Amino acid sequence: MKFLECDSPYKLEMKRMEIARKLIGYQLRPPQVAITTFTNQKKLRLIWNEMHKSSPPKGLQPHSCAGLLKKRDMRDVATFIAIFRSIIPKNSLNPEGSFRKTSIENLIDAYEIYLTMFEKKSQVLEFQTCFYLIRDIRYDIATIATCGTCKCEFLETANDKAFWGCPFCN
Ligand SMILES: [Zn+2]
Repeated sequence: MKFLECDSPYKLEMKRMEIARKLIGYQLRPPQVAITTFTNQKKLRLIWNEMHKSSPPKGLQPHSCAGLLKKRDMRDVATFIAIFRSIIPKNSLNPEGSFRKTSIENLIDAYEIYLTMFEKKSQVLEFQTCFYLIRDIRYDIATIATCGTCKCEFLETANDKAFWGCPFCN
């Protein structure tokens, strides 16, 4: 995901580390944070150890959001898509409010709004899930459909796996 423009290299570096720390705080794994923020993985693992008092999980990274989602998550996914859509800045760089032209900061902002909607943090989508969700939509791995009945947007497909239709009407 691209960053918003920054007017000086020094400020950009500060911003990059601030975002990297935030992503590690939300338990996005160091390899993914490294790609997203152009930050050294070794440095990120040290930040993880310091923040979470443990080593980052090993093993394969998810290929897409599909493997992370269950049917019961789909209302939350639709809610998150609606929040994300609402915060996409519409400007000369992105007049149509396309998901493709959004930044990692937009994703963090949307996730923080989403978190404020729930008292029990154990029941919310993990940041990692939202990260892969938006990434998959950006790269057309997942598609957003609009329900003909309630007009809500929902996640329709991911990796050719059919999902379950509108989560509010089904
Ligand atoms: Zn519906």
